Formats: sequence, C-alpha cells, structure tokens
Amino acid sequence: MAFSVTASSSAAISGSNFSRSSSSSDLKVPQIGSFRLADRHATVNLSKKRCAVKPVNAEPKRNDSLLPQAASISAPEVSEKVEVEDFEQLAKELDNASPLEIMDKALEKFGNDIAIAFSGAEDVALIEYAKLTGRPFRVFSLDTGRLNPETYRFFDEVEKHYEIRIEYMFPDAVEVQALVRSKGLFSFYEDGHQECCRVRKVRPLRRALKGLRAWITGQRKDQSPGTRSEVPIVQVDPVFEGLEGGVGSLVKWNPVANVDGTDIWNFLRAMNVPVNSLHSQGFVSIGCEPCTRPVLPGQHEREGRWWWEDAKAKECGLHKGNLKQDGSAQLNGNGSGAAAHTDIFDSQSLVTLSRAGIENLARLENRKEPWIVVLYAPWCPYCQAMEESYVALAEKLAGSGVKVAKFRADGEHKEYAQKELQLGSFPTILFFPKHSAKAIKYGSEKRDVDSLMAFVSALR
Ligand code: SF4
Repeated sequence: MAFSVTASSSAAISGSNFSRSSSSSDLKVPQIGSFRLADRHATVNLSKKRCAVKPVNAEPKRNDSLLPQAASISAPEVSEKVEVEDFEQLAKELDNASPLEIMDKALEKFGNDIAIAFSGAEDVALIEYAKLTGRPFRVFSLDTGRLNPETYRFFDEVEKHYEIRIEYMFPDAVEVQALVRSKGLFSFYEDGHQECCRVRKVRPLRRALKGLRAWITGQRKDQSPGTRSEVPIVQVDPVFEGLEGGVGSLVKWNPVANVDGTDIWNFLRAMNVPVNSLHSQGFVSIGCEPCTRPVLPGQHEREGRWWWEDAKAKECGLHKGNLKQDGSAQLNGNGSGAAAHTDIFDSQSLVTLSRAGIENLARLENRKEPWIVVLYAPWCPYCQAMEESYVALAEKLAGSGVKVAKFRADGEHKEYAQKELQLGSFPTILFFPKHSAKAIKYGSEKRDVDSLMAFVSALR
C-alpha cells in the first residue's frame, strides 16, 4: 500500500533543546514537545527533504499531554508533495535489516512525527535502539490506571536512565467511571477484556496516534501463536489513523518483528538496560495487573495474558489489525466465516436495521425524520477503525431528530447493498433525507466525529 509524505521547509525547524555530545553514551535526549535537531539529523532531513517534520511549539512541561499537541502546527512552513512511499516494498527491503537500522530509518523518515509505544516491558529495547541512533526520539505510554506498581516504578527508572519524559496517555475519566459504575472493577473476567481495553487502552491510543504520522511498536512474530506470526517490519497501519486523518494516514514500524525473545534479552543484558522487576518474578509479557500473571517454564509468554480467554485472540485492540480475517470474507465479504466476528457499533443510541428495515427505509419517499446509516462488515478493519467516532456521532445526535443506524451489508446482503445502496467498499455511509427517496453517499475518507457531523448538518 502506498503512503504519501510531504516535505517541509527548513525554516520550520529551529530553536530546540536537543543537544548531543560526540559520544552516544553521553546522549542528551530531546525534551519532548520541543524539537531540536542533532547535526546529523539536520543534514539528512533538510538536504533530502523526504518527510514532513512539523515542530511542536509546546513547552516541555512535565504534565502536558503532548501527543495531541503534535496536531497543532505553529511554525510557518511550506509543504509540498514530493514522493509516494511504497511501504510494502520498503518492508521487503528491510526484512534482513537489524533493528538498529530499521529504527534509524524510521526516525530519519518521520522525525518529530513518530513516537515509540512503550508498554513497560522488554520493549524498552526500542528506546535503547533509538538512543543508539543518535537521533531525537519520542516515547509514549498508555497509563490504564490498572498497571502494576512495579511498572510505574520502571517507567520512572526509564525516564531517569534515558533523560526523557514519557508522554503518558490516560483514559477518559467519564468513560472509565461509566464502565466501572455499571459493571464493576473486574467485568473483564465475566464478559471478556475488549470493553475495558477499548476504554482504557484503545481510545487513548487512538488519540495519541491522531497526533502522529507514524509509530513504533515492539511487536515480534514469536510473541503470539495466533496473531503476530506475520508482523511486517513496516506497514501502512491497517486500523488506526494518523495526523492527516483517513485511511493510510499512519505508518506502523515494528523494528524487532523478526527478532526472537531470547535475542532481545541478550541485547538488554549486553547494553545493561534497566528492566521491569516483574520479569524476575516470572512475568514475561506485561500488561495490566488484573490481566497479567507469571508463566511457568515452557509456557508461551501470551499464556500469562487474559488466560481465561481463547489463546488465539489475545490482542487488546492495540494491534487489532493482526487478527486474521476469514479468508473469503477478506476477499469479497461473502465468506461464511464472517459471521464469527464480534459485532461492532454497539450502542443504545444506534438502531440496528434488518434487511426488511433498510429496504423499507430506502423505499420511503416521505420519512418522518432523516437517517444516517453505515453499511458495514464487522471484520473490516476500516469499519472497526471508525467504530468510536460513529458511536460518538450517534450519542451526539440522540434526541436531535436524526436517526443513526447500522446495516450489516456483507454476506448474503452484499449484492443487494451493491445494487440498491451504492455500496462500493466497507464502510459506506448513507444519509436518507426527510423528503427524498434518494440516499446521499458520504464521499470523504475522513470519518472522525466532526466530519460526520458536518455531513449531517449540511443535509438535515
Ligand atoms: Fe482492562 Fe485488563 Fe485490558 Fe487492562 S488489560 S485495559 S485491566 S481488560
């Protein structure tokens, strides 16, 4: 899949706090939120003009939530489209490259618009690799509120060791409150971890990524038998959106995809990198306290996560794109396996239309109220990616006189939807006005709540 990048004028990059001594071990890491180029960085980025490097003018204060601020560009800049990058090809070219080379390439290409996602486990190796490149780098982490005390202490140790500030992302307090008040503190043991992970991890992650053009993860092929066996070195993110919004606006780098766990640990030991003290208590993969436990010798590391659930579906939503789709469903949406996917767009503010329901709606010439309807397939990653914004739209429009609905249009309904409902690809969003039989199709790939709201407001 291709991904377009832009070049920025050098005038936009100035006045930073980053400094670097001649020895990499003396590296002074950049203060997050400000942007200063090391000499080498300046040479590469400014001479080649390969990627957009947009400086953030934020003060590097300790408590700032800085990732979203990456979206606000304050310095003057000149942007021009200079190249379209083929990341599938690049992934092939880098397949035998070392993690250090991959990290260097990622930081070179994306500058201040890329950040390392740090979970507080052995992915600290990513931070070490980033330091070794000698380039400035950013690190963010999701504080779910349910981490082990050891992990919080480890975060602090990492900040001090690397002289960085981790950009913590927190869940929305109102959402956590609603979940815990209605279902209690441990609902994930009863009805699965997805709902809690969505509130505490996926949505904060989505917010973080909206301020970036690329992110770096510690995913490895050997980590999960069912979900990570085909992780590429670099890919256009199949699930999340970046700064520009829309499909293909974010690139995901996995520099240690091809490295096995033993080699990561050899590297950490060789470089004397600080590690989470939970590892010495038998924890391998580390997540939230209630959902992580130590594993015994010979057990797979993911057996320590959500151990009460199916071993082949252990993704918290952060790397949902790894979950394999039913083959035929992926190709044409008609596969019988499509029914096995958990449904999406679950909200009391949303109407679920049956086939008869949408046929009736499409036929009516005089509707009592206008409707917005998403035609979707639950296995489609682009539908999954817009779930949050569409549910938010439904909640905003509740009681406003505009009905918000969904119609599952894969499988046996696909042909009808293609013929009668303008379905091209998933998701397709239609607006059914009050006084016209003809549905109006939403044409943009921007599916954030404000863009969808503007569409409704313009037509209602
Ligand atoms: Fe909630 Fe467990 Fe997911 Fe953490 S890992 S967000 S506690 S379900």
